Amino acid sequence: MMQSVRLSKMVSRLSQKRLMSRLAPAQAGKLTDIGIRDIFDSDHDMFREMTRNWFETEVKPFHGEWEKAGEVPRELWTKAGEMGLLSNMVPEEYGGLGTDCKYPAIVWEEQSYSGCTGPGFAMHSDIVAPYITNYGTEEQKQRMLPKLVSGEWIGALGMTEPSAGSDFANIKTVAVEDGDDYIINGSKVFITNGWLCDVVIVCAKTDTGKGAHGVSLFLIEDGMKGFIKGNKLNKMGMKAQDTCELFFEDLRVPKSAMLGQKDKGFYAVMQELPQERLLIADMGVASAEAVFEASREYVCERKAFKGKLSDLQTVSHKLAEMKTDTVVGRAFVDQCIELHADHKLKSDQASMAKYWCTDLQTKIADHGVQLHGGWGYMWEYDVCKHYVDSRVQSIYGGANEIMKELIGRSITNPR
Ligand SMILES: Cc1cc2nc3c(=O)[nH]c(=O)nc-3n(C[C@H](O)[C@H](O)[C@H](O)COP(=O)(O)OP(=O)(O)OC[C@H]3O[C@@H](n4cnc5c(N)ncnc54)[C@H](O)[C@@H]3O)c2cc1C
Repeated sequence: MMQSVRLSKMVSRLSQKRLMSRLAPAQAGKLTDIGIRDIFDSDHDMFREMTRNWFETEVKPFHGEWEKAGEVPRELWTKAGEMGLLSNMVPEEYGGLGTDCKYPAIVWEEQSYSGCTGPGFAMHSDIVAPYITNYGTEEQKQRMLPKLVSGEWIGALGMTEPSAGSDFANIKTVAVEDGDDYIINGSKVFITNGWLCDVVIVCAKTDTGKGAHGVSLFLIEDGMKGFIKGNKLNKMGMKAQDTCELFFEDLRVPKSAMLGQKDKGFYAVMQELPQERLLIADMGVASAEAVFEASREYVCERKAFKGKLSDLQTVSHKLAEMKTDTVVGRAFVDQCIELHADHKLKSDQASMAKYWCTDLQTKIADHGVQLHGGWGYMWEYDVCKHYVDSRVQSIYGGANEIMKELIGRSITNPR
């Protein structure tokens, strides 16, 4: 008894020390400082520093060219793989680091800080790889996961169709059994990494009479006869990210290409969506943090009316609102990251984070552009990119209206 009391006092002193030794973002010099936030420790800080340098040197200087090309070079993926920036959560036996979600969170936050949305790393590492890790057969995992970790292969996920996005149950792509094979017909649209992908997880109906409960998942590989990639789509933002349409024309795949159980695809999607929504939320807050810091720096330097813009009360009040809103979002997302690392994040909490933090992101980006005046409308300024790139965040990963629907259901019909 005495021993357990002593132990619990020691743990409490240790955790107090941990809390005291790391600043909360609101107390830090900058919201983007390394070494803050008590969900991280010094090992995370080293990884963050390396990741920040990598985006600054390997991505930022070339991003403008890649925006014109509408894609990033394949070598960037293998370079990222060599640095251990891809698919960290994949278990060690399949080549990954077997980490919890905090290391990938550092990668997607640092990508947001860099303002370079080109490489679709989060889709590849933290959406596609987990599906294969959690639902793949031993053969699928051994063959595919090491290639996703190294960046030799690029992964994509095909759920949305031209006539079915939010209404997932209404997808028209079908997979019909034929002996030892399935024959897949249909199409997908808005697919991140769709142009570059080597493997895409495709949702298709294996039972057309059961709505979402008749959906199965298939691993479709580049080069399969009947798998056709459409043109890269011309988007408002995220110009360097390859987003495209995919077509399946009498695509014959062996039954071993199915991922998970027949007709259970929707359940897998439901299990995986909280992580997708958390990462979108976290990228949203990270973008808001970057925009706040860029705006603070700009108004503190910009001369106007015999002083600086920051001397004006309207400007300092705007910064006060931006900082307060952003640190509130950060506190909630950090709580969600901690819960998720502990396997305790609930789907409705992930939906709350996704909806609130992406709305926050677009609001802060708008204020940031306004504070920069005409320069904020110029592409060479990061706030301009944050502004256009933020717009999609409240649409994909489940539109924010759908998030409210899910949160509402969890309130009125708690399980
Ligand atoms: C850049 C980009 C990348 C994407 N990447 C991928 C990807 O990699 N893989 C993939 O599968 N998909 C991807 N998507 C698709 C994205 O997930 C869908 O666009 C999104 O789910 C919305 O579907 P929709 O476009 O069909 O809009 P709709 O479902 O037609 O919705 C239109 C509007 O109606 C609202 N609405 C719809 N239903 C309801 C309802 N029941 N209650 C209230 N409001 C409702 C929506 O909230 C929205 O505001 C991407 C989209 C974009 C733009």
